[in-house]
Amino acid sequence: PIRTRIAPSPTGFLHLGTARTALFSWAYARHYGGQFVLRIEDTDVARSTQDSVDQIIASMKWLGLDYDEGPIYQMQRLDRYQQVVDQMLAEGTAYRCYCSPEELDAMREGQRARGEKTGYDGRWRPEPGKVLPPVPAGVNPVIRFKNPPEGDVTWNDLVKGPITINNREIDDLIIVRPDGVPTYNFCVVVDDWDMKISHVFRGDEHVNNTPWQINIFNALGAPLPQFGHFPVILGDDGLKLSKRRGAVSVTNYEDKGYLPEAMLNYLSRLGWSHGDEELYSREQLIAWFDGTHCNKSPAQWDPAKLEWVNSHYMKLADDGRLAELVKVQLAKRDIQADSARLKPMAALFKDRCSTTQALADWLLMYFAEVQPSADDLAAHVTDSVKPALATLADKLSAIEWNKAAISAAIKETIAAHGLKMPQLAMPVRALVCGRVQTPSVDAVLELFDKEIVIKRLRSI
Ligand code: GLU
Repeated sequence: PIRTRIAPSPTGFLHLGTARTALFSWAYARHYGGQFVLRIEDTDVARSTQDSVDQIIASMKWLGLDYDEGPIYQMQRLDRYQQVVDQMLAEGTAYRCYCSPEELDAMREGQRARGEKTGYDGRWRPEPGKVLPPVPAGVNPVIRFKNPPEGDVTWNDLVKGPITINNREIDDLIIVRPDGVPTYNFCVVVDDWDMKISHVFRGDEHVNNTPWQINIFNALGAPLPQFGHFPVILGDDGLKLSKRRGAVSVTNYEDKGYLPEAMLNYLSRLGWSHGDEELYSREQLIAWFDGTHCNKSPAQWDPAKLEWVNSHYMKLADDGRLAELVKVQLAKRDIQADSARLKPMAALFKDRCSTTQALADWLLMYFAEVQPSADDLAAHVTDSVKPALATLADKLSAIEWNKAAISAAIKETIAAHGLKMPQLAMPVRALVCGRVQTPSVDAVLELFDKEIVIKRLRSI
């Protein structure tokens, strides 16, 4: 059966790169009717936090990446790692190394001075007939994996194609630190084995770890999963996406008013394609995502395209849902608005907005004072139109407040003053909305409190 996993380290928010790997792992499992597992790699105790685990889970939930098992915490599996280490020591596929950090530094310096490749020289590696150094007193050893000394490690990477590394290129990896905590490359193998992971998808930065992991799988007599490494995501400056250069966590985009279905759609196009398709549902993604057509070259983060995708989903989104989302955006600006009142506003403006934050920008005119620009005032609120604005204010104050009556009052006013529609509509927009590009003026006015409209029309 197909089993995939995502294995984040809980040291921060869910990074976009990890989210994309999670998305592909999830879609792959769903496509083949398999299972998707969430594993928390928390052996870096100093940097791992429960808060980060909560954030990661919340972001996965927000994106709709449902998992079948987990979260499984590595720190709760220490006994199991110990058991495997003991077995490896007993079988001779791992050994204790008593080199001090100073000794290792000196080793590397010597190698550099001789122009050799740096790496562990195997001085504690047991070999038939070899005499090992005397065990120093009071030193906590590390445990190293006894890597095969030669031969090739080869795998057919699901993304990058065939990869071959010679064992002479890699040294004897530390699998348990002096403090007894096992290391990433070791835990990941025991976990992927125990959790029966069939396909390991992860970022490019782990390609160099894979030969070690394959050797450990083999040493344990464990079946090998398949591996696929996705290229990095580059920022619009051509450098790897990083915190210093902008928003890199899923939470950032949720906060900025993006919709999860848009994020999912957009992320899935970073390094994968299905013909020319750009906009598709999660069901469609699952139906298409069979692991082929993954790109070998880095994907480019494109904020403008993400906005375009989000605009598409804004138009499709239910008005009641948008009302709830824009309510949160307004609350961040200390504006408390009622969802029932926001719903028709969302309906009227959503086609013009790329995010719910942009929608909140639009709706500010309903909840805060507006500042028409001097240019708009000069261009549209001319002396010749001021009498008509006064007439309109009078007429509006006398009507029952609905779109048909507002529309009738506007038509009567332009007829009485011999104006064309834009000659009245533009100054009304400038004064009431603080901007001159809006949907139809009667529809926009209807959603205001009548008193505010009249007050703004009479403010000149
Ligand atoms: N904890 C590792 C990371 O976040 C997982 C790598 C893997 O999937 O093996 O990069």
